[in-house]
Amino acid sequence: EELRGEASMNKGPRQVPGYHYSRIEPTAVRDPHLLAWSDDLAAYLGLVHPPERGPAVDILGGNRLASTMKPFAARYGGHQFGSWAGQLGDGRAISLGELTAVDGTSWEIQLKGAGPTPYSRRADGRAVLRSSLREFLCSEAMHYLGVPTTRALSLVGTGDMVVRDMFYNGNARPEPGAIVARVAPTFIRFGNFQIMAALGEKDNLRAIADYTIRHHYPELGEPAPAVYVRWFEEICRRTAVMIAHWMSVGFVHGVMNTDNMSILGLTIDYGPYGWLEPYDPDWTPNTTDFGSRRYAFGQQPQVALWNLYQLARALAHLVENPQDLQQGLEVYRTTLADTRHAMLLQKLGLTPLAPDAEDRAFLEELLEALAGSEIDMTLFFRHLSHTAPALLENLENEETAWRELLAKAAYSMSMEEEQTLLHWLQRYLPRLRQETASQEAIRKSMLGVNPKYVLRNYLAQNAIEAAESGDLSSLNTLMEVLKTPFAEHPDHEELAAKRPDWAREKPGSATLSCSS
Ligand code: AMP
Ligand code: MG
Ligand code: MG
Repeated sequence: EELRGEASMNKGPRQVPGYHYSRIEPTAVRDPHLLAWSDDLAAYLGLVHPPERGPAVDILGGNRLASTMKPFAARYGGHQFGSWAGQLGDGRAISLGELTAVDGTSWEIQLKGAGPTPYSRRADGRAVLRSSLREFLCSEAMHYLGVPTTRALSLVGTGDMVVRDMFYNGNARPEPGAIVARVAPTFIRFGNFQIMAALGEKDNLRAIADYTIRHHYPELGEPAPAVYVRWFEEICRRTAVMIAHWMSVGFVHGVMNTDNMSILGLTIDYGPYGWLEPYDPDWTPNTTDFGSRRYAFGQQPQVALWNLYQLARALAHLVENPQDLQQGLEVYRTTLADTRHAMLLQKLGLTPLAPDAEDRAFLEELLEALAGSEIDMTLFFRHLSHTAPALLENLENEETAWRELLAKAAYSMSMEEEQTLLHWLQRYLPRLRQETASQEAIRKSMLGVNPKYVLRNYLAQNAIEAAESGDLSSLNTLMEVLKTPFAEHPDHEELAAKRPDWAREKPGSATLSCSS
């Protein structure tokens, strides 16, 4: 109520100048039924596991509202692939309201795929099981990896078929529809501010900035020009921490448009994302981006900075001297560099002992060597967590041990590439030896930051294909294992295996399009 809402319930696509959101109700589906449920998140929100069908799942499928809910779709704009796209908005997401968690914090519940809104443009407001399952699984997996992210409470099948006009397994075909209930303190994005600035709605810009600060950054104090500057710095800092996490686990968002950038520095809007298998800065899963590779893995730090710059341009209308916002961008650069470095040191079992510049250059060489060959990022660091500490005790056969590690992680490797990596590893061991922690402590800390299990693209695809034919066992197994990605799951070694050859180029397993 602190923000301006359009009261009309008209679902027709239109421009909505002057408002922050539109009141809109979900459109009912044929047969809402529960496919997946996030137990831990639910318990935190004080919710119990509902039966497969019934009133609770009717709410999560958009067929029923609780009396206190005032659903809405937000108005935002954004830069898509570098160009200003004007009004976008929640074209298929509808927020139901907020829940109070057991610790008293407030969480917004949003249904993605709940039907048309004024922001649907020419699309149908729906989501398919394929993309919904991917969002559900990945946002929860990211949470358990410790990456800042929105959460997912439920995955509900709608009983309706949805047609996506796209290349998928060779044919455009009707697919089962689904709805994810996602959860975050707020889903406000950079684009919510940009649209107000772009259309000269300065009062609305100030109102949503003040709202965001009061509710989500209360520690900054009452909104004022100097507070906006500090707020922007904090957004920059959080965004840097999020990007450092992505780079550390090999996550590629795939479509980092400014409308997909959370104002809280959370990973948001899981679409054509992917996980690095071979470490490759140039890799993107998003077929829509194959030409420019704007959103490739290695571009993410730069793109986030560009996006923050666009946000600064919007917030410039609120501050006395727009130059003051430069400081935030500097905070981004230094936080990102420092956090990435700190995380990479941890992945290698190192603490900052050697001269910083020396370490930075040394670690950079590792990334270059990895990029120069076809080495699975997750497997490399996981095996390293065992091999390196073991070599501290027993140096016999050092070279053999390193070669074995590389063989376990490599998809293909020339002798020259192997030499480069061997050479790096042989210099790494003496550096590791400078550490004062015990071999066992080093091993433990490395295993605690180098996950064994990540949501490899083909694993998600396998779970999708099974779920589409009614078999939820792969989905359930993945959910369970990805809850403790740093632990061993002896019954599920197959989920930690190198990507099989067949998955290399298969659509869905290796590549995804924006349309889902
Ligand atoms: P994305 O890049 O997937 O986050 O979406 C960009 C814009 O397209 C957002 O405004 C979405 O709400 C909208 N959009 C994507 N898919 C649909 C759909 N099936 N129906 C309506 N709007 C959609
Ligand atoms: Mg989006
Ligand atoms: Mg490579």
